[in-house]
Amino acid sequence: MSTQPTVVDLRSDTVTRPSAAMRQAMVSADVGDDVYGDDPTVNALEAEVAELLGYQAGLFTASGSLANQLALRLLVKPGEELVCDRIAHVVRAEMGAAATFSGITTRTWETQAGRLDPAAVAEVIAPNAGWHQVSTTAIAVENTHNFGGGTVQPLEAVRAVQELGRAHGLGLHLDGARLWNAHVASGVPLRELAAGFDTVSVCLSKGLGAPVGSVLVSSAERIAEARTWRKRYGGAMRQVGMLAAAGRYALQHNIERLAEDHERAARLAAALGQKPELTETNIVVLRVPDAPALRQAALEQGVVVSAIGPTLLRLVTHLDIDDEALDRAIEVLSPLVAG
Ligand SMILES: *Cc1c(COP(=O)(O)O)cnc(C)c1O
Repeated sequence: MSTQPTVVDLRSDTVTRPSAAMRQAMVSADVGDDVYGDDPTVNALEAEVAELLGYQAGLFTASGSLANQLALRLLVKPGEELVCDRIAHVVRAEMGAAATFSGITTRTWETQAGRLDPAAVAEVIAPNAGWHQVSTTAIAVENTHNFGGGTVQPLEAVRAVQELGRAHGLGLHLDGARLWNAHVASGVPLRELAAGFDTVSVCLSKGLGAPVGSVLVSSAERIAEARTWRKRYGGAMRQVGMLAAAGRYALQHNIERLAEDHERAARLAAALGQKPELTETNIVVLRVPDAPALRQAALEQGVVVSAIGPTLLRLVTHLDIDDEALDRAIEVLSPLVAG
């Protein structure tokens, strides 16, 4: 899609461009060959994220999908089953990778706005299913929930699902692409949000504004195994400290400011007549009669949004949306949404 220079881009928080200071950190990074474990900036990033989330070790990956898929590969053997919610990123937006690369089958539980419901999880799991049925061996949780509209998972629900999983010997993965947003919105420490899983993935290239990268954290043993699989998939990179430097910069400067994105998303939602409780972080999901038509009409006036279904629009605030851009978005979208 072509975009004019004056465009206000609300499609995703992935569209941010690295700031001058972030670019400076990138060009001045110390680097080495990361396949030999020699890149000091990558090593520092991996250790920092592991420490922040309370795990032994970390692995830098080119994308969140790769981090998730390495985790799932470690937790679920071919022919076994992963369970997650019906609109989870791992099952909906990773192009069937779990099945394609790891021979993993999936079943899903129904969800409202992606909000975790332990009873729904309990109903769908089938641990040790015997000779005739597929056995569940892992559960995936997403926080915040992307297609659910930036939903922050209630901590009690997360703990209940972890207990359920542990009671049945199941692996537990957290897709924490936007765990930073959950932390800033809820005030719950990152370590608490990340605790109790086997594997956790986080993205540096969403709200944090880095151009590339995710980190998978887990035990040292699992991360060593994930490192082997990353190489096998062709995902091991060389002097990649230049990218890791952007991630380190983002961790230092761009976590707490996510509160601004949340405020702007709330303002946008209110201006478009959305109930305030539906916008918890930086994602506004709106139900409209014809999402593709509205998307097109907004685009013609320089405001880009996503149609994530025939009647669903997604609008995401981020580092490159300031108050002026938000005002412009409201000016264009209000009359369109009001119909
Ligand atoms: C963006 C995202 C990912 C990873 O996406 P990549 O584009 O592969 O980096 C994973 N999970 C969630 C919930 C996401 O929003």
